[in-house]
Amino acid sequence: MLRKIGILTSGGDSPGMNAAIRAVTRTALANGIEVVGIRDGYKGLVEGLYEPFTRSSVSETIARGGTILGSARLPEFKEEAVLMRGIEKLKENKIDAVVVIGGDGTYRGADSLTRHGVNCVALPGTIDNDIEGTDYTIGFDTALNTVVECVDKLRDTSNSHHRCSVVEVMGNRCGDLAIYSGISCGAEILITPETGYDEEAVLEKLRYLENQGKNHAIVIVSENVCDVKSLADKISKVTGFAGRATILGHIQRGGSPTPSDRVLASRMGAKAVELLVAGIGGHCVAIRNNEIISMPIEECVSMPRSSRKAFYRLFDRLV
Ligand code: ATP
Repeated sequence: MLRKIGILTSGGDSPGMNAAIRAVTRTALANGIEVVGIRDGYKGLVEGLYEPFTRSSVSETIARGGTILGSARLPEFKEEAVLMRGIEKLKENKIDAVVVIGGDGTYRGADSLTRHGVNCVALPGTIDNDIEGTDYTIGFDTALNTVVECVDKLRDTSNSHHRCSVVEVMGNRCGDLAIYSGISCGAEILITPETGYDEEAVLEKLRYLENQGKNHAIVIVSENVCDVKSLADKISKVTGFAGRATILGHIQRGGSPTPSDRVLASRMGAKAVELLVAGIGGHCVAIRNNEIISMPIEECVSMPRSSRKAFYRLFDRLV
C-alpha cells in the first residue's frame, strides 16, 4: 500500500526540476498519497531533512529555475553503511517510495536503493542531456536556449572585429549542448568528446575559412576537451583572426525553464507517480519520440551511448 512518497533533487541543479517536483507532489496528492520533500539530495535523505509537502508547498514554483529542495553531493552514499542509514531514516518516517531527480550519479544512487528493496523512480534532471534511453533530459532545452542567446550575441560583436570566438559550453563528457548549439548558431567548428581535439586541424580549417573570405568564426567547445584560452591565443598567433575565449560556465544552469522543459518535467513527474501507483518501482522515466515511457534504472545506467553521427554529419554539411 502506497501511503507516503519522498521526493529529492540531487547532483547539479537544472531548470525544470521545480516543475517536476510540483507535478510529482500534485499528482500524488490527487491520488490520496502524502508527499515529503527531502532537502539536499541523498545527504538530506540520510540526515532526515524531511518536510511534509502540501499543494501550496509547490505554488509559484513552475517558472523558477534551480530547485526549491536544494541539491547536494554525498559521495559516501556509495558506501553500504551510509546507504543503510538512509534506508532506516526512510523507514522511521514511514516513506514507502522515493522519486529522485538528477543525473547519472543520482540514477546510480536510485539503483542502489532499489537493490536494497526501496521503491524508487528516477527522473532525468540535468542540463547535459547525458542520460541514455531518453531523447531529452529536464533542463537541456533551457540551457540550450541560454547558450544560443549568448553565442548569437558573441557573433554580432565578432562579426564587427574579424574575430574568432571560442566558446566553452557545459556537457559533462556529452557533446549534445555543443552540437545542438553549434547547429542552432551556425558555428564553423565544433570540438566535443565525440569529435576529439586536433589543434592543427582546427587552425587549418580557420585558415581555409579566412581564404574563403570569412570575416569571423565561431568555435564551440565542450568543457574539458581542450583549453579554450590557449586555443584562442594560438588562433591570434597563427591565423588572421583575433581569437577570443568565452567560458559560459554556470550561467547555463540558471534561468526560468522554457515551456518545453516545463511540459517535459510535468509529464515526467506525473508518470513517476503513475508508475508507483501501479506498483512499478526501480524504473526511470524517459521521453522517446514524444512518448513518456519508463525502463528499469539498472538497464538505463548500463546502456551504451547512442550515436550522434547524424547530427555531426548535418553540422558538417551546413558549414
Ligand atoms: P550531474 O549530471 O548534474 O552531475 P549527477 O546526478 O550525475 O548530476 P553526481 O554528483 O554524479 O551528480 O551524483 C549525485 C549523487 O548521487 C552523489 O553525490 C551521490 O550521493 C549519489 N551517487 C553517485 N554515484 C553513486 C553510486 N555509484 N552509488 C550510489 N550513489 C551514488
